[in-house]
Amino acid sequence: MADYDYDVLIIGAGPGGYVGAIRAAQLGLKTACVEARETLGGTCLNVGCIPSKAMLHASEYFDAAANGSMAKMGVIVTPKLDLEAMHGQRKDAVKQLTGGIEFLFKKNKVDWLKGYAAFTSADTVEVAGKSYRAKNIVVATGSSVTPLPGVTIDQKVVVDSTGALELPKVPKKMVVIGGGVIGLELGSVWRRLGAEVTVVEFLDQLLPGMDMDVRKEAAKIFKKQGMALKLGTKVTGVAVKGAKATLTLEPAAGGASETIEADCVLVSIGRRPNTEGLDLAKAGLETNGRGQIEVDHDLRTKVAGIWAIGDVVPGPMLAHKAEDEGIAVAENIAGQTGIINHAVIPSVVYTWPEIAGVGMTEEQAKESLSASGGEIKIGKFPMLANSRAKTNHEPDGFVKVIADAKTDRVLGVWCIASVAGTMIAQAAQAMEFGATSEDIAYTCHAHPTHSEAIKEAAMAVQGKPIHI
Ligand code: FAD
Ligand code: NAD
Repeated sequence: MADYDYDVLIIGAGPGGYVGAIRAAQLGLKTACVEARETLGGTCLNVGCIPSKAMLHASEYFDAAANGSMAKMGVIVTPKLDLEAMHGQRKDAVKQLTGGIEFLFKKNKVDWLKGYAAFTSADTVEVAGKSYRAKNIVVATGSSVTPLPGVTIDQKVVVDSTGALELPKVPKKMVVIGGGVIGLELGSVWRRLGAEVTVVEFLDQLLPGMDMDVRKEAAKIFKKQGMALKLGTKVTGVAVKGAKATLTLEPAAGGASETIEADCVLVSIGRRPNTEGLDLAKAGLETNGRGQIEVDHDLRTKVAGIWAIGDVVPGPMLAHKAEDEGIAVAENIAGQTGIINHAVIPSVVYTWPEIAGVGMTEEQAKESLSASGGEIKIGKFPMLANSRAKTNHEPDGFVKVIADAKTDRVLGVWCIASVAGTMIAQAAQAMEFGATSEDIAYTCHAHPTHSEAIKEAAMAVQGKPIHI
């Protein structure tokens, strides 16, 4: 190691960076992780996955009590909201989990270099006025909210996801700009707590990237729950006066504009990679047209010894994708074969019901097979016909299994179900093992579980489901 300070220096302690640092240390490499925030865990633990799920979970209980679904089961309560306590349990979850990463760093002897890192050369970074030279540097700087041109986020009337997690009172009227994952999850939180929520989405359907059946069904369910959806509509301006905002909306295809009022506007139109201030050019690196750092299959950048993972590289911006890349990059640096299958990364929207998918959508599968003259087969099963969902009064949703008509290999699985996020794990594992729909259909599933709907959808691929 002669004149290197570290074998591995990772910039960013989100799920990509902190997981990579722990694995590198486990593999006997001298490791440091630079983090500019006061706490470890990145977007995910501080202002993303964890606090949003804390608010989703708590608001789900409130909604179940308020909307009559508990009363249906003989539990009659009139809920009273203690928003401060709800925020308190969110903050507590974040504190415990971010503290847990600090403990894991100490346990694994990962040095946390506190401060903002910038490259000074291809193997050296400066942090808080000190230079550190490392044999390998991993950029894991994550992403931040994409701003909407001309709209100022004041975190009072106009908020981003971080502001929307912390609203001090329930807004009367909330407008969500962007019908993607963040808009639907955080829009759901405030709708459940009593806000009138309108989602304005530029495209003609919600949730870009997901299977079209799922997107259409999701829109029906959210409307039924009382969310107003303005699809195929773009926001062209937001004017704030005092505590009120006036939004100007235009049909995406052109036409007359309209205005709507809100006392809270959530801007959730996507996230962009964090590379500003890194001085990438000093390391010989640049970003692509989407602001990302390009990497090869092994997560190497074009500069020897510099690697990149997570939201800052191409691919879905998901915590588990970043984590798996963190493990793979550490193993590759250690001379092992880091494995990550980008074709099998599940995605989950934690609304009620949950929405989840893995592999190809029907549209992608058709297109992919049509090039070789192949075809797909589809099996669908409604949650209404699943005994557990029915018993639990959770009738919404379905499972859809997409398979290659010739080989029967499963190409994609999509679910809308109360516990779709948990159900999708078995589909991902089956696909990782190269399963056919028959393999899933002949796997014994415990009864009564929501997961039986995956087995039934797999049986439906063969045209022989039992319960429909
Ligand atoms: P990040 O988690 O963004 O971490 C990067 C870290 O690097 C940050 O802490 C930053 O401070 C630090 N950093 C950046 N530049 C520097 C520098 N120059 N020097 C030092 N430190 C630096 N994904 C899911 O899979 N499931 C979910 O349920 C989910 N929910 C989400 C909810 C919300 C509201 C948001 C905003 C995101 C959510 N995501 C979710 C996405 C998930 O948070 C990201 O995909 C994930 O955090 C990316 O991990 P990362 O390690 O690449 O980067
Ligand atoms: P997104 O890309 O999921 O959705 C943004 C939406 O905004 C798109 O549907 C887009 O068409 C729309 N849009 C863009 N400009 C618009 C405009 N001017 N007017 C109206 N609509 C407009 O982005 P997001 O919801 O901000 O989430 C960012 C990232 O965070 C996502 O990549 C997601 O993977 C990740 N995330 C994941 C989870 C999860 O896994 N459960 C939760 C939250 C966030």
